[in-house]
Amino acid sequence: MNPDFPHMMDLEFDRRHLWHPYTSISRPLPVYPVVGASGVTIELEDGRRLVDGMSSWWSAIHGYNHPVLNRAVTNQLGRMSHVMFGGLVHEPAIELGRLLTGLLPEGLDRLFFCDSGSVSVEVAVKMALQYWHAAGRHEKQRLLTVRSGYHGDTFMAMSVCDPVTGMHGIFSGVLPQQLFVEAPSCGFDEPWNEESIDDMRMQLEVHGDKIAAVIIEPVVQGAGGMRFYSPRYLQRLRELCSQHDVLLIFDEIATGFGRTGRMFAMEHAGVVPDIVCVGKALTGGYMSLAATVASGHVADTISGGNPGLFMHGPTFMANPLACAVAAANLRLLQEYDWQSAVLGIERQLRQELAPCSALPGVADVRVLGAIGVVELEAPVDMASIQKRFVDKGVWVRPFGRLVYLMPPFVITGVELTRLTSAVCEIVGEP
Ligand SMILES: *Cc1c(COP(=O)(O)O)cnc(C)c1O
Repeated sequence: MNPDFPHMMDLEFDRRHLWHPYTSISRPLPVYPVVGASGVTIELEDGRRLVDGMSSWWSAIHGYNHPVLNRAVTNQLGRMSHVMFGGLVHEPAIELGRLLTGLLPEGLDRLFFCDSGSVSVEVAVKMALQYWHAAGRHEKQRLLTVRSGYHGDTFMAMSVCDPVTGMHGIFSGVLPQQLFVEAPSCGFDEPWNEESIDDMRMQLEVHGDKIAAVIIEPVVQGAGGMRFYSPRYLQRLRELCSQHDVLLIFDEIATGFGRTGRMFAMEHAGVVPDIVCVGKALTGGYMSLAATVASGHVADTISGGNPGLFMHGPTFMANPLACAVAAANLRLLQEYDWQSAVLGIERQLRQELAPCSALPGVADVRVLGAIGVVELEAPVDMASIQKRFVDKGVWVRPFGRLVYLMPPFVITGVELTRLTSAVCEIVGEP
């Protein structure tokens, strides 16, 4: 409560005491108080309504306050909100496991539920390390990845984020030192160029004996630069990893559940990794939940080693509320024609963002599935550009040199035009 205006939020308290993601608490940027969200609309305290172009960091694919998802949470709440997963199990976990393995490619069917995307990356790496330990190859402990990646904010996840944007310098004393190669340079639609995987191949040839796994975001590098690359890269990578006895981990946290036009981005390549991480859109943006899914071979090898147990177990593992809403979210996805929705968004983004490429200061415009990116030549000024978007009635949150749209799949053509025209106008302003 705001002491001066009891019916309004106390933004002064927020400013002084609450950290927001990647911000300074002594020199905070403005934040906008939200009182509700429904469909693709976010409602601010002052009554302004914003069309959402972010899906709350790519997670709210069906929009906010969805009756089916609401019902899943309230029904589950009436039974129990949580019980420990150690020694107990419940229907929401089993149902979600069944739905998720049904969507994933065959062979990926041993699930570990965890709290967030970053933790699912930690779990994937731990699985890879335990796998090689169990296989008697104790020297295989390093990770190999590409530049411009993003895998989360915890320490192991951070160690495989792009070293520059991930600020490895600050944490160099404690971060595990991993191996990095050039980001895939061959664009999504470009003819395959074998040279674009040379660096990766060389590292695998030289250091394969020490490498536990390659971790990579398939097809779309998200928060590390919004880059789209050739699915052929993943096919070659799969061959190279098998050849050099290195596990392959796909981080589908941003790309999973339809965002790139396929249920999972790996389907563009028809390639199956040894371990996959999913998160973000898993619960339709309702709650924090992620999963790490391994092949039977990886799981059985871990179990056959010493200690034979997989050494992880979060307090809120497989939280029933989160599992129930995730299951409802996946059923919603199965029941409606999300492919047409995403294809429609893709077409419209292509058409309506195209004029941006002619604007001064724009370096590139690219679209894949329900992802539209306008890359600028210079970083944006966050505070001022954010305000200009809000003043135009849309919620768009750029980062660095990237102004991008990842709307909920349920957005209408008219609403999407509000987003694209705001982007074109604001990017075009001097
Ligand atoms: C967001 C993201 C993560 C981290 O997920 P959190 O839930 O924020 O911990 C990891 N990998 C990718 C590709 C992501 O986009």
